[in-house]
Amino acid sequence: MQLTDREFMSSEEINQMQLELVKQTVGYAGQNSKYYRKTFKQEGIQLEDIKSFADFSKLPFTGKDDLQIYNEELFCVPKTEIVEFVSTSGTTGEPVVFPLTKNDLERLKLNEALSFSCANAQNTDAFQIMVNMGNLFVAGLAYYLGLTHLGATTYRIGAGLTQRQLYLLNKFRPNGLVSVPSFLIKLRNVALEEGIDVKDLGVEKIVLIGEPILEMDLTSNSLGKKIEEYWGVRPFSSYGSTEMSTSFAECIAHQGLHSHPELIYFEIVDEKGQPVPDGMLGELIVTTLQAEGMPLLRYQTGDITFKISGRCDCGRSTDRIGPIIGRKNQMIKSKGTTIYPGQIEKALLAFKEITDYIIQVSTGAEFSDVITLKLGMEQTDENLIRRIKEQVNAIGRVTPEIEVYQPAIIEKMTHVEGKTKQRKFIDLREQVDLGGRGERI
Ligand SMILES: [Zn+2]
Repeated sequence: MQLTDREFMSSEEINQMQLELVKQTVGYAGQNSKYYRKTFKQEGIQLEDIKSFADFSKLPFTGKDDLQIYNEELFCVPKTEIVEFVSTSGTTGEPVVFPLTKNDLERLKLNEALSFSCANAQNTDAFQIMVNMGNLFVAGLAYYLGLTHLGATTYRIGAGLTQRQLYLLNKFRPNGLVSVPSFLIKLRNVALEEGIDVKDLGVEKIVLIGEPILEMDLTSNSLGKKIEEYWGVRPFSSYGSTEMSTSFAECIAHQGLHSHPELIYFEIVDEKGQPVPDGMLGELIVTTLQAEGMPLLRYQTGDITFKISGRCDCGRSTDRIGPIIGRKNQMIKSKGTTIYPGQIEKALLAFKEITDYIIQVSTGAEFSDVITLKLGMEQTDENLIRRIKEQVNAIGRVTPEIEVYQPAIIEKMTHVEGKTKQRKFIDLREQVDLGGRGERI
């Protein structure tokens, strides 16, 4: 069997394979992880009860806080089986560590080889890897394993080091890059200052991670377009996390990000945890398949996206997701509709007059959310403000308050001391304690 053959099977064959793997994972986790053993016992779940995906969807979710509180109880293997530890970055609380076995490394390798195959990477390609290779991060390791598995040449540089990246790009002329989008923008600007047009470097394949580069309709967003314009190549988007130990990858048909069905089972659910139809926004829930060290069942990623199924133009029948359009806790609720800051952002980008912006949300009457847009504009008039309000209203049937500032003032407001990332979204809402997980409603 060829590496990618399973991805070209029919949806029915894929479903059958996945159901077996899901059942196998429930059995394995229920037997080997103290956490799941306890949960199954509490909930009265028997392995033989899980016969279908519908049965499986009755299992409780695993939350981010469960990972933090019960980290070691989720381990499924003794220390002697662990060959590597990887960790989440810990930007939202305590970092979670994941033990990997020899088989987990093989799984990671297969996953990334499949992802790079979506981008048509082959053994004739050479990739410069520009993401963090160490510090317990999983992504760099995965890229390296996947590319070498395909027989492609790798230049394992790591993150940052702008000048050295440029020097090596010039010296080795790799035709592929793996990077976060914003770094490629920076690299191009530095190159330009030195009189180098990065378009002349011979780069043909760019795989990006970390920031969305797609719109909801799967065309390039402004960041994606910028990369395309600067580097002369349409990049491939990918999405992954330490928790998933798997990635979703865009293919040459650019019709969404493919999942690898032997490694992950995913669901998209609404606020009540119920499945939503294809194309509808909801939270991505993942179950890792064939993971040994720390498999997760129905893990709530907190990321909002939508599902695309059916055969893709590339020939794969594997289920896809759209771009991540926001985080669950960023959801804005007003007058019965829900929207995400990313959607408002998109509306604002259509106005050339707006040079910078901050989306602020606060609590209004009866706990409804109030959106205030702080816009940086040199000049303004009532007509323009009306058009902006209309544009935002068109997405979420919600009319924002608008405050206009000089661009320099907004720029100052978006910078947070000690942080490199700009603050474009400010959440001033009152937190509603539900007595349980403390999530907002
Ligand atoms: Zn495809």
